[in-house]
Amino acid sequence: MRDLDTNIRPTDNFFHYASGGWMKRNPIPATEAMWGSFSVLRQENRKKLKAIVEEVSQDKKATMGSDAQMVRDIYSTGMDEAKRERDGVSPLLPIFEKINALKKPEDIIPITAYLHRLGFGGIFGFFIDQDERHNDKNVLYLVQSGLSLPDRDFYVNDNEESKRVRVEYRKHIMAMFKLLGKTPKECGIAIESIMRIETDLAKHSMTQVELRDIEKQYNKRTLAKLAKEAAGAEWEKYFRLVGVGKPKEIIVAQPIFMKRTAEMLREISITEWKDYFTWHVLSGSSSFLNKAFVNEHFKFYSTILAGVKKQRPLWERVVGFIDGTVGEALGKLYVERHFNHEAKKKINELVNNLFSAYEAHIKALDWMTPKTKKLALKKLHAMTRKLGYPDKWKGYKGLVIRDDSYIENYWRVHEFEWKRTIKKLKQKPDKKEWHMTPPTVNAYYNPVMNEIVFPAGIMQSPFFDASADDALNYGAIGSVIGHEITHGFDDQGRQFDSTGNFKNWWTDEDKKKFEKKAKVIENEFNNYVAIGDMKVNGALTLGENIADLGGITLAFAAFKKSQEGKERKILDGFNPEQRFFLGYAMTEREQIRPELLKKIVVTDPHSPSIFRVNGPLSNMPEFAEAWGTKEGDKLYREPKERAKIW
Ligand SMILES: [Zn+2]
Repeated sequence: MRDLDTNIRPTDNFFHYASGGWMKRNPIPATEAMWGSFSVLRQENRKKLKAIVEEVSQDKKATMGSDAQMVRDIYSTGMDEAKRERDGVSPLLPIFEKINALKKPEDIIPITAYLHRLGFGGIFGFFIDQDERHNDKNVLYLVQSGLSLPDRDFYVNDNEESKRVRVEYRKHIMAMFKLLGKTPKECGIAIESIMRIETDLAKHSMTQVELRDIEKQYNKRTLAKLAKEAAGAEWEKYFRLVGVGKPKEIIVAQPIFMKRTAEMLREISITEWKDYFTWHVLSGSSSFLNKAFVNEHFKFYSTILAGVKKQRPLWERVVGFIDGTVGEALGKLYVERHFNHEAKKKINELVNNLFSAYEAHIKALDWMTPKTKKLALKKLHAMTRKLGYPDKWKGYKGLVIRDDSYIENYWRVHEFEWKRTIKKLKQKPDKKEWHMTPPTVNAYYNPVMNEIVFPAGIMQSPFFDASADDALNYGAIGSVIGHEITHGFDDQGRQFDSTGNFKNWWTDEDKKKFEKKAKVIENEFNNYVAIGDMKVNGALTLGENIADLGGITLAFAAFKKSQEGKERKILDGFNPEQRFFLGYAMTEREQIRPELLKKIVVTDPHSPSIFRVNGPLSNMPEFAEAWGTKEGDKLYREPKERAKIW
């Protein structure tokens, strides 16, 4: 209980009350932008992964193509800084040569395709996933992209933070191009080209809030129609060059952006495009280059944008890279050593209890008509779960990893995954696929599969601890489970039916009532000041805030049910209900640097942690009762003003 700060009243600021002591003892390390339960566990996991990587690195005889060999050789090339110093930018020279050979507007599409295949960004992008309206097949989504700052807002907004970021971004481009050997004059011209192109793309990009609108982004087109709507770009050629062939249909997520892109191919001069592509190649490969580039990239993206003081040690960066490339190979080795089968069994039971609580709550809702309730229950009953790690590993058969070059290994993995992705267009969606690796300390809800997924990484203390009392576990992992289930019923998730198709199953009346209730949450969060003059964006964070409130409410109900007939114990001076809320606040504890906070307010659909605790709890009568909140307390809300959906 030394984690608490008892100078603060729990009914004024539960976030600080529950974690103030911990925060004082655990300042943010110099290598981090934030520090809390998630980051501590992630750090511990990285150490476990390091031990695995070092263990398999001893095995000099591992067969070519085995998980151990791939992990071993990516690690050894990643740790070989001396080679990167010797190589400098030489691995990029053939690419720069191709960029320098550009002559006419018709050359832009082929170079874009070439760079996309190598894993570089540029102008737009695409991915292949289930068709949201017909999820028994995969389809191609064409999407906005091509920026180097974290969001379009940083290019077009005129607040202080955006201006600061733009000034620093220009300096960063200058420094990187100087390292490449350009003259100050050339650097100055390049900065203008890059800013002109990226700002134009930004102006025609959807905002983060617009990106939450699924209907608006579901624009199915034939190739012919796309060529007409976004005339001027040879789309057919692009898809052929990236290996997709001639797609029958394409979902154009941002038609205005694509139209503008096609116009820009002709309006922007070839010299400007050369600068733009050179920049994206240079910036995109900086972590594979010599230290001068690595340091300059770190300075801008981690120090200036996120406030981090010091780079993580190289091994941490390389282990993170392995997780992001051959993550299931490493994950398999991780699971063999660290998976807790007992925890999986217990968590499976918790999921069952959360589902039961949800069912009872839906049945008891006073605002929903029986017709919609029936379909909500149908969706709940159809929701599936994945716990721990994949039943079927996706495997890397055919991928060749060598001990020669870090960046070459990256390109090999990228090309391999690229082909795997493109094959999906002709395949049925794979229900066994995972979108997170096993060591990941996180969880997700996937609306097109109507499934909740919890990797092995999150099935550990402080989220789940088999030796802790039920109250803490329900407050911690129980709330996480409830959160993911609620995503199936948040402002976005509710628009997908029980089979995972984007299809309305709500009566107009129920839809209106839901929206009205959601608006209460949106308005509440709009009032929270994150930092300086920057407030939380209630519309951007709506889905997560609905999921938080629903998750804790449902976990609390499941907890109460699990305690029926059991003895009520007081531990450390707290009753079971109080411990439940302490368990929740413990998982959400987090300190964050101001630079990162200013960034996430613009880009992150999650609210800052303090509001993820104080926000939902101020709406819960269960919390008010457990802690005795009353009028005048900062976390007090009039019963009729409290937000509640599920
Ligand atoms: Zn979430």
